[in-house]
Amino acid sequence: MSSCTPYIGRFAPSPTGPLHLGSLACAMASWVDARAHDGVWLIRIEDIDPPRDIAGADQQILDLLAAYDMTSDRPIVWQHDRYERYEEIFDDLRRRRLVYGCACTRAEIFAADANLGLARGIYPGTCRNGTHGRPARAWRFRTTSDPVSFTDRWCGLQTQNVEKETGDFVVRRADGLWAYQLAVVIDDADAGVTDIVRGQDLLDNTPRQMLVQRAIGAPTPRYMHIPLVTDAHGNKLSKQRKAAAATAQDRLGTLEALWAHLGFERIGADSVSAFWREAVQQWKERWCCRQTKH
Ligand code: GLU
Repeated sequence: MSSCTPYIGRFAPSPTGPLHLGSLACAMASWVDARAHDGVWLIRIEDIDPPRDIAGADQQILDLLAAYDMTSDRPIVWQHDRYERYEEIFDDLRRRRLVYGCACTRAEIFAADANLGLARGIYPGTCRNGTHGRPARAWRFRTTSDPVSFTDRWCGLQTQNVEKETGDFVVRRADGLWAYQLAVVIDDADAGVTDIVRGQDLLDNTPRQMLVQRAIGAPTPRYMHIPLVTDAHGNKLSKQRKAAAATAQDRLGTLEALWAHLGFERIGADSVSAFWREAVQQWKERWCCRQTKH
């Protein structure tokens, strides 16, 4: 089968705790997709939220991935090393008036939403034309009402009116920290990422990220958003819900469980490397060089 190179994929965990099975499934899908495309696979540690990051979680994540033979093909990037780069892009967006200062508190936004009949949390655009002398707290990206569409390899055609469904979104927080929506786009663009495979919890973030890509002149990668792993009650596994950490015990059992989650039959390999060899082959047959086959 012909390969679809050039391909650069990545796994970008936040070190807010150890990986759970849901995040390990994302790592697996992005890793196997990169290998099936004869591509490059990168790891980036998204440690831009010091209040939520947990000391040592980054190394714990890297060790677990390595135990499953998932290692970065290039030096690992830590977002805390990238603040100057974010600043440079932010200043440019600000100069171009694509980013503006916002003085609203969360309570004020909720009150305005209630008044205007908007869903709670949608930014109603209060400071779009200035803060009327109030100091800026956060900085927001100016959205537009043109629908943003993309074809997700797993979920198919997605369309969002970002202005209406999200509103102008934060790129620099009131506490001065960089927002995920900005950092993720800059980092993927600078690394030349062509393919993003991640969980469906981020599906509705993608149009926002596409607006940032367009604003900074970066190409839009291909996307595949995989189903979330849920617990026995149907809740998505999350660090907030204290989902159990994935471990390196019973690696083959874990790999088979994740593989089944991704919709494949049991492989029944007798080693981790044999499992991966077969998995890459099967993934290639199902997913390579096709945009939307499910
Ligand atoms: N750091 C994000 C997370 O752990 C993922 C970002 C991404 O894949 O775009 O949820």
